[in-house]
Amino acid sequence: MDHKMFMSEALQEAAKARDSNDWAIGCIITLDGEVVARGRNRVFSAHNRLLHAETEAIRELQEKHFDSKGKNLVLYTTLEPCPMCFGAILLAGVRTIVAGTNLDQSGVSATIDTLPEFFMQPHFKTTLITGVLATECEKMWLSGTPAKSVMKRNIKINYATDADGIQIYTSPVQHLEPDAENTPNSQKEYTHSLKSAFSSEH
Ligand SMILES: [Zn+2]
Repeated sequence: MDHKMFMSEALQEAAKARDSNDWAIGCIITLDGEVVARGRNRVFSAHNRLLHAETEAIRELQEKHFDSKGKNLVLYTTLEPCPMCFGAILLAGVRTIVAGTNLDQSGVSATIDTLPEFFMQPHFKTTLITGVLATECEKMWLSGTPAKSVMKRNIKINYATDADGIQIYTSPVQHLEPDAENTPNSQKEYTHSLKSAFSSEH
């Protein structure tokens, strides 16, 4: 499966969000390798803080393919899902999540092993692959109006403008470091393991 090709489609959704002055985040969902739903962040343009790219894509998925839960669904999102979206993704029965970056460090990879017991049930098992087109997704996120305002407050993210007027960003995210083991597009994979929540005690 070509994760980069589908992430490029998610980036197209992110560009639409950027052009609407929303958070520049996009999402698509595939079913058996076909794109069946798209979403982009609409928090500011729709005045609704629940309208994240992932929840928008899931809404479209539910309208068109309500019976898709547990099937071969792959969700691509340019920024790792927040905890709200991660819960929605699991409820929709998505078994694989492919994320671009976790630049704002709000993503789920940091918490995937400490989920509430509710999400330890076997039918919520999912795999998170992160770092696909990370550099492109980071630049996209940083190009959005909301992220720019965050940058002004966040001294951990540095940016400069080169001779052609192109903004160059450096961040504290490790995979931006130019060493062999952490190339910009190095991928990390997490599997939400089902631990003991529903084994011995239940
Ligand atoms: Zn979210």
